[in-house]
Amino acid sequence: MNFASDNTAPVHPSVLQALAAANEGYAMSYGADPLTLSVQDQIREIFEAPDAAVYLVATGTTANALSLACLGAPWQTVFCHRHAHIQEDECGAPEFFSGGAKLTLVDGAHGKIDPDALKLAILGEQTRGVHGVQRGPLSITQTSEKGTVYSLGELKALTTMAATYGMPVHMDGSRFANALVSLGCTPAEMTWKAGIDAVSFGGTKNGLMGVEAVILFDAEKAWEFELRRKRAGHLFSKHRYLAAQMDAYLKGGLWLDMAKHANATCFDLADKLSKKSNVRVHTTPQANILFADWSRATHQKLHEAGAAYYLWSGDLDAGDPDEMLAARIVCDWSASADDSAAFLALFD
Ligand SMILES: *Cc1c(COP(=O)(O)O)cnc(C)c1O
Repeated sequence: MNFASDNTAPVHPSVLQALAAANEGYAMSYGADPLTLSVQDQIREIFEAPDAAVYLVATGTTANALSLACLGAPWQTVFCHRHAHIQEDECGAPEFFSGGAKLTLVDGAHGKIDPDALKLAILGEQTRGVHGVQRGPLSITQTSEKGTVYSLGELKALTTMAATYGMPVHMDGSRFANALVSLGCTPAEMTWKAGIDAVSFGGTKNGLMGVEAVILFDAEKAWEFELRRKRAGHLFSKHRYLAAQMDAYLKGGLWLDMAKHANATCFDLADKLSKKSNVRVHTTPQANILFADWSRATHQKLHEAGAAYYLWSGDLDAGDPDEMLAARIVCDWSASADDSAAFLALFD
C-alpha cells in the first residue's frame, strides 16, 4: 500500500531488459550512439516537431533548471505557481543555473495558475527600469502539483498572455503522460500548438529508472542548452543507458499505457474513497494524484497498518483524534487492485 509518490515505484521490467540489451559491446559516448539518435528522432516524430532539439537528462530538476536558463536571462524573473516544484522542491536550482534569475509566484486554485493573477503579476514586474528584474519565462506544470490538469483552452489562455508580453513558456511535464492521457489529445496539441516553447518531458515518475527529455521547439537554443548541460555536469558520457530507457518507454506506447493505469487506479480510489462516510475527497482527480481528508485517528490506523502516503497537513501524533487532516495519495504504473482494496478496507 504505497501511495507516497510515483517515484517510490519500481522500474518497468521492459526498461530493465532494454538496459541489459543496450549493455552489449561498445557504443559512442556523450550522446553520439545510435540509440540516442533514434530516441531523439522518435520524440521529434511523437511531438510532430521535426526541427525540435531533444536532450536527455537524469532528473526533472535538471530538465527544468536548464530549460529555464535557456529561455531566460539572469536579470529576468520566471513566473510560476506559488506551489510549483521549481519554487518549493528544487533548492533554488532554476535560480542557480540561470545565473540568478528570480521567481515571481502566482496564485491560482487547485495548483493551476489563474490568468487574472498572472496578468497582475506580469504588470507588477518590469516597472522599475534598470532597478528591477525584467519579465522572463512563464513556467506551467502539467500535471500540476495538485494533480489537476490544464485544459487546452486554459493552456492557450496563459501562453497567449505570455506572448503578449514577449515571454517564452516552459512546461514542467514531470507527469506529462498522465496529463496527456487525461486530456486525450496529442503531444503536439498539449505543447507547441498550445504555445509552449520548451518541455521537461518526464519519464522517471512514470516507470523509468531516471530519464527526462528536454524538448526545445526553438532549435536556436540547442547549442546554448548543450553548453549549459555540460557545464552543469549533466552530460552523461555513457548516454546509451539513458537512451535505452527512453527507447523502451516510447516503444509500443508503453509510456501511455503506464500513465493510463496510474490514472485509472487513482480515479477508482477517489470514487471508492468518496463513498466512505469518514472521508472527504478534495476535488475529483484528473490524473494520478488525489487529496483527501480523514481523521487523525484514521491516519494513525493506516500508518500502523503500513499504508505509505504523505500527510499534507497537521501532525500525525499530536492533537485531537477527530481532527480532519489532509492526505496526498499518488498512484503509479505498478499500482495493484489488491493494494487499493486493502487500503480501502482500512476505512471500515
Ligand atoms: C518530481 C517532480 C519533478 C522532478 O523532480 P526530480 O526529483 O528532480 O526528478 C519536477 N516537477 C514536478 C512537478 C515533480 O513532481
